[in-house]
Amino acid sequence: MTATPREAPADAPAATVEVHDVHKWYGTHLVLGGIDLTVRPGEVTVVLGPSGSGKSTLLRIINHLEKPDIGHVSVNGELIGVKRRGGRRRTGVPTAEDRGRLKELSERTILTQRGRIGFVFQNFHLFPHLTALENVAAAPAATGRLGKAEARELARELLGRVGLADKAGAYPRRLSGGQQQRVAIARALALRPGVILFDEPTSALDPELVGEVLAVIKDLAAGGTTLVIVTHEIGFAREIADRVVFLDGGRIVEQGPPSEVLDRPRHERTRDFLSKVL
Ligand code: ADP
Ligand code: MG
Repeated sequence: MTATPREAPADAPAATVEVHDVHKWYGTHLVLGGIDLTVRPGEVTVVLGPSGSGKSTLLRIINHLEKPDIGHVSVNGELIGVKRRGGRRRTGVPTAEDRGRLKELSERTILTQRGRIGFVFQNFHLFPHLTALENVAAAPAATGRLGKAEARELARELLGRVGLADKAGAYPRRLSGGQQQRVAIARALALRPGVILFDEPTSALDPELVGEVLAVIKDLAAGGTTLVIVTHEIGFAREIADRVVFLDGGRIVEQGPPSEVLDRPRHERTRDFLSKVL
């Protein structure tokens, strides 16, 4: 018996993500050179770009795993990154506005916001010593959002949703890569995120296992979840994306609907990239 009522994960309100003028350096290396991007609720954005173009860094900044050096990110209007250089007066000294933002960005805010953002990694990142069910149930139980029994009930439901109801008791090493990635997606869903970020979710999979993972992502898109997906699967991008963003050298070279960016790219660099991955 469940003690408290809870909403189904599918009912999580889709989030808006706004990336504003984000710059990031590693040492002297400019990795992101001023990214502006808005992802509206329920929209599916596919990010393409060559290796080293800054795709993972962008996702990590959206998820608070990295801080931008300039610019900021907000999820549902709530601030994530904080401007630390430049600012309105361009003096390099934090403005009152910046200090206000810093204050607002307490550890607690970060944790709350991170809980609203699901992240699916290329290499699954499941806990090897936990079963599929325990992997999915761990996060909502740990945050105290659900009791243990409720978390397990939710995990069972989510494993069913990704087609793995019969694998609840299996440890990751007994699952195929495609199954592990589907468990990772169920785990991301367990926190009822408003947006899910995918960093090359099928790149580590044998070709025959790619389809089952893409099918699950397609279901999420059809269900109206906000998704940001880094992938080299161009056919999939064409099918699923509302918008395709092509990143090169830390800058957005072009963006638009797949019918434009993928079928009629305007920039030489986009054409060159597509000719290599298609
Ligand atoms: P992508 O995901 O598009 O391949 P990344 O965002 O992983 O690109 O990396 C962009 C650039 O930043 C690369 O040149 C990479 O070597 C560098 N980079 C990424 N993470 C770090 C880090 N933690 N420290 C130093 N350089 C990094
Ligand atoms: Mg990457």
